[in-house]
Amino acid sequence: MATAQASSLTLRSKEPAPRTVEPARERKIVVAEELGYCWGVRRALDIIQEAASPEQRIAPIGDIIHNPQVVERLRDSGVEGATSVDEAKGRGFQRVAITAHGMGPHLAVEAESSGMELVDTTCPLVVKVQRLGQKLVRQGYFLVVYGDSWHPEVKGILAWANTSKSCAAKHVEDLPWNAARGEKGEGKVVPPRKVALVSQTTKNIAELMAFSNELQRMVMPEGGEFRLCNTICEPTTERQNALKKLADQVHLILAIGGKKSSNTARLAEVGIQQGVQSYHIERPEDIKDEWLADLGDGNVGITAGASTPDDVIEGIVAWLAERGYTPPEGGIRPIDPDYVPAF
Ligand code: SF4
Repeated sequence: MATAQASSLTLRSKEPAPRTVEPARERKIVVAEELGYCWGVRRALDIIQEAASPEQRIAPIGDIIHNPQVVERLRDSGVEGATSVDEAKGRGFQRVAITAHGMGPHLAVEAESSGMELVDTTCPLVVKVQRLGQKLVRQGYFLVVYGDSWHPEVKGILAWANTSKSCAAKHVEDLPWNAARGEKGEGKVVPPRKVALVSQTTKNIAELMAFSNELQRMVMPEGGEFRLCNTICEPTTERQNALKKLADQVHLILAIGGKKSSNTARLAEVGIQQGVQSYHIERPEDIKDEWLADLGDGNVGITAGASTPDDVIEGIVAWLAERGYTPPEGGIRPIDPDYVPAF
């Protein structure tokens, strides 16, 4: 049984639960059933690539994708990120774009007042959360967005909600309250009567539930009303389920994605939590000889973050195949062009 550990690229984790996997006779590469570009990122890239050309350049505001190989390719086709509409204008762009994560309504206003054309690639599943947040605020709820306060998606949801009665939180300590309704005493701050919780689309359901339970305990006493809306998107849920399934079949997991890709780091973390030695890698050069030596005849599992293109995944599979691992029959996975996730 392998001891799970993280690479320098991987976020450190608590002690993993031990897992026993039957020894494998053949050294196989097992690819997660869901990996790489999610539906929303694929859609956003299709839109922007169709709209851009070296003569008709587009500046997405913020990182369009956390993958250096894709960023390089996009630059060649006329897509180059800028930090703001002003900066894009200063660099001679006439068109700006909203990335799949979405943005607040200010961006359209800024683009219009600067005379810039706007290309909106916001994922429809993110738009759904933005609209839901607005609706909950109109219904009188204080809106809590479970997620990373720095993330553009979370910032966008809060910007569309457009109220001071909202916040982002990942832990109870991040909330503006420190006590349950009805508790009294010096320094106690309790929630209002109505609180609603939505989630960043890429979060983990078990962690959302744990947070939700704690928040519910604070809100429900004394006639409080708590509403949980599970807005983790279907592609994220399927990816998390596929990773758990993968962990049952392999002895090492390589999570492929740009070094800045937090969702790839998260995949490696979940692999570790499943008791499998897991590493976040960007390129074949990141794979250390000792990882494979420690693996012996074990299988290697492959997963990839939502911003990792197929050819980068295929490159890692080919690299492993050259070292004697059997690649999956039929390539990394079929893509159904008609697939539309549940809204
Ligand atoms: Fe859309 Fe989900 Fe992908 Fe985000 S992770 S872009 S919500 S499909």
